[in-house]
This record gives sequence, C-alpha cells and structure tokens, in this order.
Amino acid sequence: MSTLAEHYQQVQQRIKQACQQSQRDPAEVELLAVSKTKPASMVEECYQQGQRQFGENYLQDAMEKIPALADLANIQWHFIGPLQSNKTRAVAENFDWLATLEREKIARRLSEQRPSGKAPLNVLIQVNISGEAQKSGVEPGAIAALASVIEQLPGLTLRGLMCIPEATDDESHLRGQFRQMKLLFDELAQQHPHVDTLSMGMSGDLELAIAEGATQVRIGTDIFGARNSTGTTL
Ligand SMILES: *Cc1c(COP(=O)(O)O)cnc(C)c1O
Repeated sequence: MSTLAEHYQQVQQRIKQACQQSQRDPAEVELLAVSKTKPASMVEECYQQGQRQFGENYLQDAMEKIPALADLANIQWHFIGPLQSNKTRAVAENFDWLATLEREKIARRLSEQRPSGKAPLNVLIQVNISGEAQKSGVEPGAIAALASVIEQLPGLTLRGLMCIPEATDDESHLRGQFRQMKLLFDELAQQHPHVDTLSMGMSGDLELAIAEGATQVRIGTDIFGARNSTGTTL
C-alpha cells in the first residue's frame, strides 16, 4: 500500500475506534478529507481509497483541482476557508458545501449566484465557540437569526454547524468547547429538523470531537502529510 493509502486507512480506523469508545454508530461520523495545498493526483489517490468528500481552503488552489477531477463520479467539494463577499461566485458555481458561513450578506449572494441547474448549496454556520476576538464565526447568540435567513434562501440548504476551537493543550478546555457546540447543534436541530451535520475535530483532536458528538471530522495532515507551503491565500 502507498503511504497515503496507509494513512487514510489509519484515520478510518481511528474514527471507528473513537465511535466504539463512545458507543456511537460509525455511520454517523463522516470523514472530510482536507486536501488544501495538495495536488489533484493525491486527491485522486484518496478517491481511489473510497473517499468522496474533499475540503479546500483556498479558491485558486481548489479551482485548479476541481475541473481536473470532474470525471470522478460523485466527488463532493466542500469550501472550508474564509470567504470574502467578492469571491462568492466561484463557491456558488463549483462547490457542493460551504462550511464557513457567518454573514447574511454572503448567504444572499451565494443563493443568488447558485446555478439553477444545481442542487442548493449545503451550508454550515461557523460558530466562534472560543470567543476569541480575531476568530471567524458567529457568536452562539446569533446562530438562530442567521439560520432563519438561510432557510428562506432557495439556493441554500442549512445543514448544521462548524467550529474551529481555540488551540490549546488543555484537554478539558477543548472538550468543553466541543460540548458547547453539541448543545448549540441540538438546539438548532430542534428548530430545523433537517439539520444533520456538526463539523468539528481535526487531525489532533478527532477522538475528542467524536466523543462529544461530531458528525463530521475534517482531516488534512494525518491523511495527506504536512501542508505544502505553496498554498496561496487568494
Ligand atoms: C486545514 C484545516 C483542517 C485540517 O486540519 P489538520 O489539522 O491538518 O487535520 C480542518 N478544518 C479547517 C477549517 C482547516 O482549515
């Protein structure tokens, strides 16, 4: 087996074990492979392992890969980077998911720009769960209002919440942030029963996130290796 295939299987194994330990059905936890800065050839290799969901952070980087891999059946692209309002069209036209929605204005633009021949764009509201000043995401108190706006937009489908917790070595602090997200997610799902995705957990903390209720983990480094420094920030 190639290194990538080995790493991929190891990550799948970790997810399975984490599910067993918290008595969760592995079918409830989806793996999003974060391929940012990695070439199309590696995405294709991962696809050959059975992976279908891929996450990208940088539009320019992604827009080289998406057309190159258009022949891969059922591949799904998730935009998981910060999105400026002048860059919404590329996401509306080329992606299946957006994980970082935090502004009403962006939601409206995406809905208008979504091509009518495509299914609505699946969106997650990014939550600033750590309350750090410079961090992206809405405050927990603003989730409900943004969710109501999204629900009225024909080009979007609200699927759930996403967070990037505060980087910390303090496991209980990290766990607390994940736990808070799960409460917010359950609250949102009560108002909007079709909401089904709680995206949290990365290479270093996927076990903790799954124990606290993640339904999607976003894994880059532990599948594809350390990031290439050539990733542009466009
Ligand atoms: C890069 C990135 C990831 C993957 O992180 P790893 O630690 O490499 O697994 C997940 N989510 C977001 C939003 C990212 O930007």
